[in-house]
Amino acid sequence: MDTKQIINELTPYKPGKQIHEVKEMYGLDRIVKLASNENPFGYTKKLDNLNAFSPSFEVYPDGYTAELRSALAKRLNVDESQLVFGNGSDEIVQSICRAFLYPGVNTVMAVPTFPQYKHNARIEGADVREVPVVNGYHDLQGMLDAIDEETNVVWLCSPNNPTGCAIPHDDFYNFLDQCPDDVLVVLDEAYYEYLDEKKDLDTVENLPQYKNLIVLRTFSKAYGLAGLRIGYGIGNPDLVAKLDVVRGPFNTSSIAQKAALIAMEDDTFIADSVSRNKKIKKEFQQFLDTIDWQYYESETNFLFISTPINSNDVFQYILKQGFIVRPLEGLGCPNAIRVTIGKESDMKELQSIILQLNNKVIEANRS
Ligand SMILES: *Cc1c(COP(=O)(O)O)cnc(C)c1O
Repeated sequence: MDTKQIINELTPYKPGKQIHEVKEMYGLDRIVKLASNENPFGYTKKLDNLNAFSPSFEVYPDGYTAELRSALAKRLNVDESQLVFGNGSDEIVQSICRAFLYPGVNTVMAVPTFPQYKHNARIEGADVREVPVVNGYHDLQGMLDAIDEETNVVWLCSPNNPTGCAIPHDDFYNFLDQCPDDVLVVLDEAYYEYLDEKKDLDTVENLPQYKNLIVLRTFSKAYGLAGLRIGYGIGNPDLVAKLDVVRGPFNTSSIAQKAALIAMEDDTFIADSVSRNKKIKKEFQQFLDTIDWQYYESETNFLFISTPINSNDVFQYILKQGFIVRPLEGLGCPNAIRVTIGKESDMKELQSIILQLNNKVIEANRS
């Protein structure tokens, strides 16, 4: 059977190892997954009795996501027509590529960054231009230089996955002002809730001035609803209308819509998760300082850490002791891992595993 040629060149997304797989493989009874930037503190308690809200499963969900749309529009102070929902923001990435990319045009992104931009762009046949990050930060001038007549979409991820670095406010607006206005700028703010207030790009309130900008956010990370698959985009109504054409008609489930609506109301849960994350992250950074492992600044719930040996070996060593982290070789960083900041006690345990590993590396280098 014939597919688009590109399909033969791509591989499916390789998920972080599932907990039960690792348990069986190494005969462990407890596994800590720090590979996908999920919220280690779960999700709002308000969802404990989600069963009571259960919609009728036999009925299709509201394809317009009306209730959540209205609440979110109010919350963000935007018009309902500025919102588009997706089966995770992943699906919105896919819809953007489907609508705006095709053979003959190109798209500009950082490297390393969230791999789904490139993956979906290639499926649509667009040329991908990758501009290396500098110390974990987007090289915005380099990205502007990479834009030409054939550029349709530019991807900015702030804070950037996997580096954790957030684009500074002035640099962002300088970029927007210089970017041609027929180029769609996608700003992926999957970790928005973790961002310090001072570092907020205030994108939503500035949207009216930038009709070529779309902001992506998600309920998967700080809100802890990764398993339900719901995210959203905020942009100009004309832009949003185009994405509504390409998205599936019932792309978010009734449960996900309901859960997001409830989760959105619990600001205390988010504030608590964010402050705990901040404290634990700092302690972990201080530990890394003591063993001299370098990491990028991070405004998120994960750290990009340089490793003294190949990251797959680091990954394996840590895995055998029940911790799953993300080696970044596949993203072009053979000597780096990405570690989600977990619960305090788990991070202490991870520290002692990394310490052991580091001692072995030092010993091996001596002999
Ligand atoms: C996790 C993540 C997403 C995907 O989130 P979903 O809403 O779960 O699809 C998108 N962008 C970045 C940068 C992410 O880290």
